[in-house]
Order: sequence, then C-alpha cells, then structure tokens
Amino acid sequence: MHYYSTNHNTPNVTLELAVTQGLAADRGLFMPERIEPMPASFFSEISAMSFQELSFEVAKKFFGEDIPEYTLQKIVFNTLTFDTPLVEVNENIYSLELFHGPTSAFKDVGARFMARLLSHFLGKEKKMVHVLVATSGDTGSAVANGFLGVSGIKVHVLYPKGKVSDIQEKQFTTLGQNITALEIDGTFDDCQALVKSAFMDEELKKKITITSANSINVARFLPQAFYYFNAWAKLKDKSRDVVFSVPSGNFGNLTAGLFAQKMGLPVKKFIAANNLNDIVFKYLNSGVYKPRPSVSTIANAMDVGDPSNFARILDLFNNDHTAISNIMVGTSYNDDQIRETLLSVYKSTGYLLDPHGAVGYRALKELLKEGETGIFLETAHPAKFTETVEEVVGKGNVPMPQKLLNFMKGEKLSIEFPSTYETFRGYLVDLE
Ligand SMILES: *Cc1c(COP(=O)(O)O)cnc(C)c1O
Repeated sequence: MHYYSTNHNTPNVTLELAVTQGLAADRGLFMPERIEPMPASFFSEISAMSFQELSFEVAKKFFGEDIPEYTLQKIVFNTLTFDTPLVEVNENIYSLELFHGPTSAFKDVGARFMARLLSHFLGKEKKMVHVLVATSGDTGSAVANGFLGVSGIKVHVLYPKGKVSDIQEKQFTTLGQNITALEIDGTFDDCQALVKSAFMDEELKKKITITSANSINVARFLPQAFYYFNAWAKLKDKSRDVVFSVPSGNFGNLTAGLFAQKMGLPVKKFIAANNLNDIVFKYLNSGVYKPRPSVSTIANAMDVGDPSNFARILDLFNNDHTAISNIMVGTSYNDDQIRETLLSVYKSTGYLLDPHGAVGYRALKELLKEGETGIFLETAHPAKFTETVEEVVGKGNVPMPQKLLNFMKGEKLSIEFPSTYETFRGYLVDLE
C-alpha cells in the first residue's frame, strides 16, 4: 500500500519510507491510499476475539501487503502485551482504560508498534538508526520504553532540565541499554529546536542515520485504531448507538477513531473533548480553523495550539465542514471544571479519573442523548499526575501502580547539555 501526503505535492511513498521519513517531503502528513472495510464476519466474531487477535485482523488491512503475515502477527502480539479494559463508571458511560501498558499512557500502543515496525525495516540494512525525540514528559517515556532493547536502534531523549515530573523523568532516565537521556539546560522548545537543527543538518546526516518518533508518524498513529475495535468487542449491549469521547491534543487518537469508523466500526459520533486549547471545538462551531499559542492547563498533554493531525481529519473528509461536524462535536472545559468532575466522579462512584479522562467523561455526561452509550478514552493512569489529582481527592487517595513504583526505584542517568546546537552536534557526530 502506498502513502500520499495531505499536501498532495510530492510523490506517493511506500510504507517503509513513510515510517522512516515521518513527515512527507512537502511537509504534509502521510495517509494510506485506501481504507478498507472489515468484513461482516469480523464483526460477528469480534466479541470472542482477544485484543491481540482482533488487532492483527485490523493491522492486516493497513500493513498486510508490505509485511509478511507471520512478521506482522509477531509485531502486533509483541506490541499488545496488555489489554484495554472497558469499565462501566456510570449508567451507560464507560471508561476505555488505555493505561495498562509499560508507561501507563495510551502512547505505549503506538510507540511499541512503531519500534517493532522500524526494527523490521532496518533488519535488512544492518546499520544503526538513531531516534531523536524531544519531550515535555509523556512522549519521551512511551518512546523510550517502546524502543527499549530493540536491536539496531538507539534512542536519544531530549528533555528540559527541571521541567518534567519526577515519575516522567524516571521513566526515561533509568532504562539504560539503548536509551540515553539528554538533560537540556533550557525549555521544551529548546529541545525541539535542537532536534530540528539535527534533521536539517545535511552534513550530519551523511555520517549517522537519524529519524523521529513523534505522533505524526503513521506507525505510531494507525495502531491506535486497534483499541476502538477492542472497546466495541467488549461492549455487552451492541444495540445502542455508540459515542466515543476523546480527550484531544494533537488529535492523533481521535483521528485513529475516525479511521476505525471508516473501516466499518459502528460509531454514531466522536466528541473532541478539549481543555481551554479548543481550536478544533471552535472550528466545529464556526467552520474556521484558527491556530493560536497554547495555554497551560492541568490536562497538560492536551495543551496544543495547532493540532498536527487536524490536517488528516480535513483530508479524510475532503475539507467538508458539514461532513466533519456530522460525525464530530466538541467541548471545552477549564481547570476548575476538570477538578470538579474528577472530585464528583470519585465521590459518587469511587472511580478515579486522571485530568485528561475527566475532560472526556464530562463531555459524555453533558452531551450523551437518550439511547446512546458513551465511551471515553482514559488516556493515562491518574498516578502519572499524582500531585494534581491528590490536590482534588486528598493526599493518599491516588494509589501508585507497582509498574510506576518500579521506575521510581531506578537510578537516574542523564547527560547534561547546554541548549546550543554545537555541543549536541558534537555528541551526535561521535555516535557510530
Ligand atoms: C498525548 C496525550 C493526549 C492527547 O492525545 P492526542 O492524540 O495528541 O490528541 C491526551 N491524554 C494524554 C494523557 C496524553 O499523553
């Protein structure tokens, strides 16, 4: 299968090139040239299938032409070593828990899949590939853990010194092996600028092979469709209309849901659940897309002012605002509303949300109609945001999963760097 660019200004490429390049040459995002529907038999058997089995069937529709069946099965099964349970929180409102992976956030699914797919493609070449990733927290941990121990790949995580939470820092500084943490004396923007400079450095690229693992990459983005099918598989009453509420930042997660729907998953609506960074909500209401600088909120993984995957949504619906607003509605909540939701759900049901999931839950509570079942994506474990969540529900009420505790035990190892490119470049040139 070939991949085209959302800017339609560069030739189509193979899956291998789409994955190793990340972004198209014309700066557009790659899209698969076909989205094939799943057969009726798939939907009649889905409830009896495991997450791994049903995901493999979905994966074949995208990657089946380009990867031998046995290899693809291995990639899918090794990626999904955890489930995404569907938990009823309130009448007709379910939490799709996406935090049971190694770093307790949904990004584990895409990062683990991408690591294995990249490794498959590199296997033929036998040269070392260096993955550069700038992070403000969650992405670095998912990518580092996803690529941990994958042969032929070294990961370099650039993060701003003193600006990530303890648990986030431990998740990518304690791993060792093929993961190196670079602690940059600067901001997240400085980290991103360093990575960008490296990608523009043609001399450097003659010496070492570098690639990026951000959410624009099709190998991180497409596998996120798997768990929408898994949610449907686990839903007992399939006679009601289903609405997915997706806490959104860069909109990779929601766009993957739209792909699932195009493949035949019976979804009535998607809710773009936003914090105060509500550019898409405004677009849905007005038809005008107006990016603006992001503002900080307590659901910080959604603090995005110009969501990169929005280009994919426009492309999927041929820029037709009416078509898009027929399938998507939006909401926007401020920090007080997020805290209020977290507390009231905890008090009335005992279920502990994280700040991002709270946005998704509240959107369903307010927008769900008679006869509809709502599923919100619980994108991270509340313990990843212990400080914020404890402020709301009280100290000692946010249990830390063993997995996260294990990270806390490890010893932090990082290399400190100034934010100037010359020093970073010197480090890269010395890599083989
Ligand atoms: C990355 C992230 C999001 C936003 O997901 P997008 O795919 O960028 O819309 C939401 N919640 C959490 C916890 C995240 O880490």
